[in-house]
Amino acid sequence: MKVFKFGGASVKDAAGVKNVASVLQKTGEKDLLVVVSAMGKMTNQLEKVVDAYLSETQSAAESIQEFKEYHNCILNDLFPNSSHPVFNEVGKRYQSLSNFLEHNNSKNRPFVYDQIVGYGELVSTQIVSAYLSEVHIENTLLDVRSCIETDSNYRDAKVDWEATQEHISAKVSAKGITITQGFLGAEGANNFTTTLGREGSDYTAAIFAYCLNAESVTIWKDVPGVLNADPRYFSKTTLLNKISYREAIELAFYGASVIHPKTLQPLQRKEIPLFVKSFVNPLDPGTCVGKGVTLDPMVSCFILKKNQVLISLSSLDFNFMMEHHIGDVFKWLHTYKMKVELIQNSAISFSVCVDNKYDNLAPLLAKLRSAFKVSWNENVTLYTIRHADSKQIKAILKDKTLLLKQESRGTVQLVVKE
Ligand code: ASP
Ligand code: MG
Repeated sequence: MKVFKFGGASVKDAAGVKNVASVLQKTGEKDLLVVVSAMGKMTNQLEKVVDAYLSETQSAAESIQEFKEYHNCILNDLFPNSSHPVFNEVGKRYQSLSNFLEHNNSKNRPFVYDQIVGYGELVSTQIVSAYLSEVHIENTLLDVRSCIETDSNYRDAKVDWEATQEHISAKVSAKGITITQGFLGAEGANNFTTTLGREGSDYTAAIFAYCLNAESVTIWKDVPGVLNADPRYFSKTTLLNKISYREAIELAFYGASVIHPKTLQPLQRKEIPLFVKSFVNPLDPGTCVGKGVTLDPMVSCFILKKNQVLISLSSLDFNFMMEHHIGDVFKWLHTYKMKVELIQNSAISFSVCVDNKYDNLAPLLAKLRSAFKVSWNENVTLYTIRHADSKQIKAILKDKTLLLKQESRGTVQLVVKE
């Protein structure tokens, strides 16, 4: 059997849901486990519900109303007959969300978060499953919380693989089409809903594929597959036909929005290939991440990160930069939530390129200045190029000021001022 995953963008409206049916028809797969995310941006909408509910200043009811209206609009389009049983089933989900808000006493944010945001996937799968039945694609709706067992680390729950394997073996049929929720699990002791971290549905697909010894996983996207560069920044891009697990992990590490390593690890262990394909052209081959060749075609891959800060430190007394100094630097970077993208060390200076996501540069610099001589450049760009050739590097550096270059096997990193 195979595992398919449809993300939020693929089911963002009624046309998207209809297209899911069309993808299933066109590919003709009969034995499938289909993982579905919350529709469109509904996870964000439910985060608003959480905020409103816990802050007690705004009305959570208003945010819930928007959540309902979004789905009702899709329902009305998909099911012209308003007495279709799906309305009642989805209505029960809405009701149970409201009941949770009414009866819950916990102020534990991660716990409350998971109980609320899970409704995005619970409602989306209900709608998708009912629609598929409507167009005669027979399917079973499975509550993923009876399969994926986790610890109670809400918002970033860890999978209990042994228990999960047992549940999946007992509950999931290798025959026919099963629809289930991405992103969710349940903790073992009380069966409360947990989540696997934002964007966790790909990981759900990998967990099922691993436990079912699936033939492959396909992630359906609004792009033709994995490209060698982000088309927002590069005018010419190439579709990668094939990438090795290892290369995909490398690309993800440097910030390419390919597949998360957490998703790849279980697949790599059983050498299950992962396809990234277009839900618009489902018969196109897309990209295959698997065993074997590093990259096909063998092209350079470009990853670009904007709004970085390059900070260089040297000791006030011209001493060497030693471990204890560097230890302090990392402690402060951690305190100010600066993600380290690149490090370069020489005898008397130490440079880091960091992502200034949370606008904490001023307090960090104040801290650093108390112990070091500090120079820095704001608003720089970090280019990471895998398998680069010198011509391409030259082309990137044209009209830019190079501040730092680092080269290791297969990877060149450039910090530049545009
Ligand atoms: N709906 C969840 C999110 O938006 C999980 C996912 O889409 O993968 O984070
Ligand atoms: Mg999503």
